[in-house]
Amino acid sequence: MMAVVRETFDVIIVGAGLAGLYTALQLGSDLKILILSEGDITGTNSYLAQGGIATAIGEADDSEKHFADTMACGHFVNDPEAVRVLVDEAVENIRTIEGFGVRFDADERGYKLGLEGAHAMARILRMGDHTGKTVLSTIYERIMEKDNITHYDGAYVYRLITAGGFCGGVEALIEGTQRVFMAGSVVLATGGVGQLFSNTTNAIGIEGTGIAMGIEAGVKTAGLTDLQFHPTGLYGNDHYEGRHFLISEAVRGEGAILRDEKLNRIMDGVHPMKELAPRDVVSKTIHEVLANQSLPYVYLDATHLDESFFRERFPTIYECCMNYGINPAHTMIPVVPCMHYYMGGLKTDLDGNTSLRGLYAVGECSHTGVHGKNRLASNSLLETLVFGRRAARAILRSSGKTEDLRWIHLREVPYFNMSFGSLQNWMTRNMGVVKHYDEISDMRKKLEMALWEPMGYRLPNWEDLRLFHVSVLVHEMLKKTIEERDENEV
Ligand SMILES: Cc1cc2nc3c(=O)[nH]c(=O)nc-3n(C[C@H](O)[C@H](O)[C@H](O)COP(=O)(O)OP(=O)(O)OC[C@H]3O[C@@H](n4cnc5c(N)ncnc54)[C@H](O)[C@@H]3O)c2cc1C
Repeated sequence: MMAVVRETFDVIIVGAGLAGLYTALQLGSDLKILILSEGDITGTNSYLAQGGIATAIGEADDSEKHFADTMACGHFVNDPEAVRVLVDEAVENIRTIEGFGVRFDADERGYKLGLEGAHAMARILRMGDHTGKTVLSTIYERIMEKDNITHYDGAYVYRLITAGGFCGGVEALIEGTQRVFMAGSVVLATGGVGQLFSNTTNAIGIEGTGIAMGIEAGVKTAGLTDLQFHPTGLYGNDHYEGRHFLISEAVRGEGAILRDEKLNRIMDGVHPMKELAPRDVVSKTIHEVLANQSLPYVYLDATHLDESFFRERFPTIYECCMNYGINPAHTMIPVVPCMHYYMGGLKTDLDGNTSLRGLYAVGECSHTGVHGKNRLASNSLLETLVFGRRAARAILRSSGKTEDLRWIHLREVPYFNMSFGSLQNWMTRNMGVVKHYDEISDMRKKLEMALWEPMGYRLPNWEDLRLFHVSVLVHEMLKKTIEERDENEV
């Protein structure tokens, strides 16, 4: 076998979204840090975030109210201790990113706070409808100023290097070549799983690789069946950079109404908060209307808004709709529910520690327990900040020593007779708002067989590795879905 040369760092962070970059900045200037990401910062969900960051910062607000809304939206199965940390440490992290140069929309009366679903009041800090892009770009400017941070942005990380119950590095493909990186601490910040579905708002490449690598290494997971579908993905633009363009909940926050073909208001009589009910309620209602009336989409009616107001408040959404021939101030927008956010992930404590020593998980790939069964809108960017900083502090407290692992050798990977596209379509049909258990059971068995007896093994290459990770994760997800169904039936 051919040995592979390794490079050593103090900390390796996989992922260049808000969770990864903010954690890196919180580690200070003394450690040698490596950030590995498949694409540049524009290929992250953080970059796409429109609405903003939920923070109890308004005069009439406080962390108790934010706590109550988060718990209620999560169906009270959230971890209350984690939620307490999230809401109590929100403002200090906001102050920190403001110190990095982030400027939220404000006027002489203070912050211009947005209102989103299941929030009792306006509490979303925002920058127009491009909050993620602007926050992430500002944070990345600070990263570029750091001499102790190296970023490789064409690196597909595919395996955790583990031995004796700890994680000491990762293997990655860079320009088709296998590279090995060792470190005392490894942080997974690889985001969610949206691209496992063909109808998703998520960026290309966000398909749960980090979680799959954790599963492969025996790391504990939680909430694997907890998928959040956003009610209002723009219909009919599936090929918009490989995803559905999101029509932010903030548009409903400005009074937009959901209507069926006969222009009935579909949320009437369903929930007291109507269009601003929790996402799972709104998505399920739309799904029922689509099924009962055999419609391809419902309408989001924002025509009560003045065009200049819409353009100024939602410049990105306005531009996208206009590109599709829809002027949202004059014409209703066709929308469908889309896979949007993953509440499940690698189980962590309140400091980002996973069950594998030396391995941390932050952001959407982690399961801190804050979101329960249904994430409250705009709590996820907040989670990346609050728990990213906590993980960084835990790393600084740890010895951070690089353990002397054996030399790494090229290992072959299994390959399957399966297409990623057909799996995405299968997930959309069967693991969507409504689950089809017979199909799920069959597919679980098929994946188990494929994983047990692959067609063969060959040297690491991106296509095989990608299918392998996706199969590992989907298999685990389906297994848990069936188990949950069986428990509920007892
Ligand atoms: C359209 C949209 C709008 C949203 N709006 C909001 C909002 O307004 N407010 C809010 O709170 N939340 C919002 N969310 C959710 C929020 O954006 C995400 O939950 C959050 O940004 C996740 O951050 P992250 O850093 O964990 O992951 P991401 O930002 O998704 O970053 C993941 C990183 O991991 C890298 N990666 C993944 N796998 C590998 C691998 N194998 N090897 C190397 N690199 C890898 C990716 O390249 C990327 O750099 C929105 C999501 C979407 C999709």
